[in-house]
Amino acid sequence: MIVFTDLDGTLLDRATYSYAPAAPSLAHLRARNVPVVLVTSKNRAEVSALRERMGNTDPFIVENGAAVVVPGEPDIVLGSTSAQAREALRRAAIESGVSVRGFGEMDLAEVCQRTGLEARVAALAMQREFGEPFVLLEGEVGRLEVALAAEGFQMTRGGRFFHVLGGCSKARAVETLITRWGDPDTVGLGDAPNDIGFLQVVRRAVIIPSPHLEAMRVALPEAMVADEAGPAGWNRAIFEMRLAGLSGKVPR
Ligand SMILES: [Mg+2]
Repeated sequence: MIVFTDLDGTLLDRATYSYAPAAPSLAHLRARNVPVVLVTSKNRAEVSALRERMGNTDPFIVENGAAVVVPGEPDIVLGSTSAQAREALRRAAIESGVSVRGFGEMDLAEVCQRTGLEARVAALAMQREFGEPFVLLEGEVGRLEVALAAEGFQMTRGGRFFHVLGGCSKARAVETLITRWGDPDTVGLGDAPNDIGFLQVVRRAVIIPSPHLEAMRVALPEAMVADEAGPAGWNRAIFEMRLAGLSGKVPR
């Protein structure tokens, strides 16, 4: 059994970034050697800090599937670099007549203001290696998406930002690990449209309620819907899945 989980708005509270309400189920999973694979738009620096706090030593997936990090092994890189994504976003914005502001153009103060993160945390968030998060200032997002596709890039919507990705997705990264591990039983938890793909490749999907709930339900009609948002809903969903008897360990 492997648990794949989104972070923001799912395992982490959307406002406080705390995972504390999920601590009981995390402890329960750890006691049974069930790996919890973090699947996120966050970068390696951010996820590493969080894994350390959580005591999580399992493989993890960063930057919307751009890289799969298996501790002690070379990264499995699936996505385009930030420089490539920025250049594609710049060209696509001109092409589609849309005005955007990318992470690469923001200074620390602006990132703090847009995310509500404190400076120390925002500085970590800015250490990206792949893709490019951005906000839409003006224009039609659909037109931008078409122009990006013509550049060979995809666009996805996270909790706070849109993201430009090249050649990668959370789903592809999750599939890479599932294949490597010989098709284990899998649970996935997520709250936003950029989680739909990986929630479709796990055996049991859990939707964590958010403003995107209706779109998520339509895309994932078989999924269980947690009865609370964020880590409190995560905690209850894991216990309700009766994982008590299940155990696992990180396959090699
Ligand atoms: Mg999320």
